[in-house]
Amino acid sequence: RNFKSRTACRNDINRLIAPFLAIYESLIPPEEEKGKQKQLMKLLEKLVSKEWPEARLYLYGSCANSFGVSKSDVDVCMAFEDPDVNKPEVLLKLAEILESDNLQNVQALTRARVPIVKLMDPATGISCDICINNVLAVVNTKLLRDYAKIDVRLRQLVFIVKHWAKSRGVNETYQGTLSSYAYVLMCIHFLQQRQPAILPCLQGMERTYAVTVDDIECAYFDQVDELSGFGSRNRESIAQLVWAFFNYWAYCHDYTNNVISIRTGSIISKRAKDWTRRVGNDRHLICIEDPFETSHDLGRVVDRNSIGVLREEFERAAEIMQNDPNPCVTLFEPY
Ligand code: ATP
Ligand code: MG
Repeated sequence: RNFKSRTACRNDINRLIAPFLAIYESLIPPEEEKGKQKQLMKLLEKLVSKEWPEARLYLYGSCANSFGVSKSDVDVCMAFEDPDVNKPEVLLKLAEILESDNLQNVQALTRARVPIVKLMDPATGISCDICINNVLAVVNTKLLRDYAKIDVRLRQLVFIVKHWAKSRGVNETYQGTLSSYAYVLMCIHFLQQRQPAILPCLQGMERTYAVTVDDIECAYFDQVDELSGFGSRNRESIAQLVWAFFNYWAYCHDYTNNVISIRTGSIISKRAKDWTRRVGNDRHLICIEDPFETSHDLGRVVDRNSIGVLREEFERAAEIMQNDPNPCVTLFEPY
């Protein structure tokens, strides 16, 4: 493994810049999608405020973190001042209201890990999930969006990695592979580690933004306009970064001992986090620390079987980037 990691890329990597950028551009949602999302939010705000004037609606997830590809679902959080609001009750009532306003496929999933109402808006064709009081997700959405403003290569890398993960079937948490959120954290971590760094560690800088959510202090430097030239000393192209990203996860990451942490901008040890053994269903076979909920390992969904699937996919991708004559096609072939 180590030998492979030191091998330079045999492919003439820079001939891949244009095709990778073309894939990136083809995935960017057209401007009109934003308008449709706003239209749906207005409708939801109207319906919600009639029943719950004190509630506020926030967009979160890929429609708000700038890592959403075209036609993504919209994630909405309904926030109440009362932390102990009865979620199943609110969700069932909300489902009733949405149905009587002719929204389609309305479903209240009150027993899910994150209880939600699902709906489809026939006017815009948008599918939407609404959850309650998941304010940490709203705050981590802002953190991701702020990172994306610093260097465009983050957004490019995430779009390509998400597209690869969806094509290869390794973006399914219910099957033990990783969430889109986990992949974004992997990309941020990776760009923090480049020499010279392409991204800073915002949580290690002066705190210009701070909120406390569910007893967790979330604070970081959010004046990111001041950091727009941060990564410019590093001239690596998107093609080199895609190659190096897969090479890192295929051959360089120490799965036995290490945790990636964008909070610290570094690697920390599993021992320091006490993530060395299985507790209940949490196995810690690939460790990705949540930036705010630091006891939360985004890799905990990964099991003995799916870690093998994931690592084989990383190796396949690294191999393709290294040797395949046409990586921009082969990388995304359906599994
Ligand atoms: P996609 O384009 O695949 O829908 P997404 O950015 O919406 O991607 P998801 O993984 O569906 O990503 O997650 C939506 C949001 O929910 C994330 O941006 C994050 O704020 C939050 N989230 C998801 N999974 C977790 C998790 N395990 N822990 C904490 N927050 C999470
Ligand atoms: Mg989503």
